[in-house]
Amino acid sequence: MVKPILTIQDKRLYQVSESIKKFDRSLRDLVRDMFDSMIEEGGVGLAAVQIGVLKRVLVIDLVQKGFIKGAFVNPRVIEASNEMQDGEEGCLSVPGLSAELKRPRWVKIGFQDLSGNEKTVEGEMLLARAFLHEMDHLDGKVFVDQLEPKLHKELAGDIDRIKQGLPVKEPHEPKYRNKKQKIAS
Ligand SMILES: [Zn+2]
Repeated sequence: MVKPILTIQDKRLYQVSESIKKFDRSLRDLVRDMFDSMIEEGGVGLAAVQIGVLKRVLVIDLVQKGFIKGAFVNPRVIEASNEMQDGEEGCLSVPGLSAELKRPRWVKIGFQDLSGNEKTVEGEMLLARAFLHEMDHLDGKVFVDQLEPKLHKELAGDIDRIKQGLPVKEPHEPKYRNKKQKIAS
């Protein structure tokens, strides 16, 4: 079921999510709601907190960009490259705004699947960026608070507008959305 996506107006996005302990029907329902909500908004990744559920679950769908689709429970970074990538980042919880943010070029993630099996996955470039972005959400962190100070200052007005529930003045979304982006207004 499609759920409304919280924006940074909502304080829950700054809270730390709890680990999943039960791999039951409610987890599968949550993942289904997350995929439905992400697809509805044309996103490529979503953390459970973005639909108001403070659990350590994320979904990613980067199939259209040649990567993978999946649900990742209790994810953690096992290893990350020292080599960094530059790239534009956006977030369904920060509608109308995207910005450059440095991230490791490659990551190895440990996680559990929907049955609780321990697994690992590796990703580079956009997939690494998506994993790290969504995992930050699980720790109550939003990408706009991690920007270079100079860039953060430039965007502070827009960030404040979104925090007040207002649309940004000149909406700009990242290029890697899966479909034409709806601008929150
Ligand atoms: Zn996000």
